[in-house]
Formats: sequence, C-alpha cells, structure tokens
Amino acid sequence: MLNIILMGPPGAGKGTQAVTIADEFGIPHISTGDMFREAMANKTELGLKAKAIVESGGLVPDDLTIELVKERLSRPDCANGYLLDGFPRTIPQAEALAKIGPEIDRAVNLVVNFDCPSDVLVSRIAGRRVCPKCGASYHIVNMKPKVEGVCDRCGGDLIQRKDDNADSFKVRLDNYYKQTQPLLDYYQGSGLLHSFDGTTNPKLLHDQVADLLKAHR
Ligand code: ADP
Ligand code: ZN
Repeated sequence: MLNIILMGPPGAGKGTQAVTIADEFGIPHISTGDMFREAMANKTELGLKAKAIVESGGLVPDDLTIELVKERLSRPDCANGYLLDGFPRTIPQAEALAKIGPEIDRAVNLVVNFDCPSDVLVSRIAGRRVCPKCGASYHIVNMKPKVEGVCDRCGGDLIQRKDDNADSFKVRLDNYYKQTQPLLDYYQGSGLLHSFDGTTNPKLLHDQVADLLKAHR
C-alpha cells in the first residue's frame, strides 16, 4: 500500500513530483494548498476564512486543516493509497494524522522528503508559474512550458501565485523551519522517512522516488 506523505520546504519540488508520481502509480494527489486555493476561488466558508492567511504566507489553523484532510482521506478513492502534499505541516497535524489514519484504515507508511537549500528555494519561487486548473508547476527559466503562459498538461493559463512574492515567501520559509522541519525527526523516529536531494533534476528525481515506491508497493 502506498499511503505517502511528501515533505520539504516550499519550492523543494513536492508539487512537481506529486503530479507525475500520482499519475504513474494511480493514486490521488491530495494537496492542501490546492484545496485551500480552490476553496478561495469558490468563495466557500473555508475559502473566505483562509484567504488572507494563505496570501500572506501564514498557516491555516490546525483544526480547519485537519478537518479538511480527514474528510478528503475518508473518500473511497484513497482506499488504495494516496499522496499527501503539504500536510502535515505542524506537530499537532502529524499527531492528528497518526490517530485518524489507522481509524479510517489509511495509516501512513512512507514519508518522502526533499532537501533543498534556501537560496535555491528563493530563485525557484520567484520564477514559479502554476496552472490553477491541474496543479502543474513551471519556472520561467528552468522549467519552461512548451508555449509561454500555457500549461503543457491541460492547456490552462499559467499564473503567478499571490503568495509567491518575497514577503509571503519569507513567512512561509520561516514557518517551514520552525513548525514543519521538526516533523522530519518525528518520522525518522518511526522509520518511515526517506530523504532525497531536491536539487536533482526533476526527471532523475522522479525515477529515484518511483524506484522507492515500487519497492514498497
Ligand atoms: P508551498 O509551495 O509553500 O509548499 P502549498 O501550495 O503547499 O505551498 O500551500 C500554500 C498555502 O496553503 C500555505 O502557505 C498555507 O497558507 C496553506 N496551507 C497548505 N497546507 C497547509 C497545512 N497543512 N496547514 C496549514 N496551512 C496550510
Ligand atoms: Zn494544467
């Protein structure tokens, strides 16, 4: 069973790898960031609560985030595995997942982490463009789409995320080091953690992760 968490700082390549891994292994890609952005676009109650927080780079409160993930993981399409991207981001979220996972027969059994130095993250985020329709990520220099401004996968119009500016990014990175990085010890302790060099080129990194997943399938 592939019940996977992807970890790493913002810009480490979680989203990029998640899209191809989810396709290849036939498991749903669950990105809490995408779910919040969708809720914001649809102006749902959750979206209205999250908007200012997400755009400034802050973390949405644990209770709201945990509830969202619990509901999503309970759906039938997660019965044969899932790829969580962006959750958990805090110790209380990890503890909630450790409790909920077994209760709904969806216990995490693999944690894939991408290491990446902060100077690389800064330049990746500054040049990042994303497809709001399918979640694919591009970079204006390093990972250009075939046609400028257009998603290779689905033809959607690429945009720059509101939180991909210098100020919000600084908040996100600080939050990562303070609140999320400690989770690596937490998962190291349970023997689930596998770390990769996030500066590896995306295709090679994909192959490395895919090999690990095949060995655990
Ligand atoms: P990143 O590229 O920084 O990894 P994401 O798309 O994963 O960005 O998340 C974007 C934003 O959504 C975060 O900065 C935060 O505001 C909110 N968010 C996503 N996941 C979580 C979470 N697990 N807990 C709290 N807030 C979250
Ligand atoms: Zn797309």
